[in-house]
Amino acid sequence: MSDQPPAEVMEFARNYKCGHCSGDTMELVRGDGNLWHGYFRHDDGCPVQVGAVSSIPDSFRALPPGYEGAP
Ligand SMILES: [Zn+2]
Repeated sequence: MSDQPPAEVMEFARNYKCGHCSGDTMELVRGDGNLWHGYFRHDDGCPVQVGAVSSIPDSFRALPPGYEGAP
């Protein structure tokens, strides 16, 4: 088993940018089995960080072209 996330996951993490702050770094952490979790570093006080704004639009923008899995 590889310690690297799948290529689509790496590309997603690279592409992801918050639309509400200047953060652009996502840490990928392996959960149970083959699940990878992305922890995005938002600026302090970012409305996405505090839950006031959804991060779903940013997530969809970051999906690699043709990727059909859920983010
Ligand atoms: Zn943010």
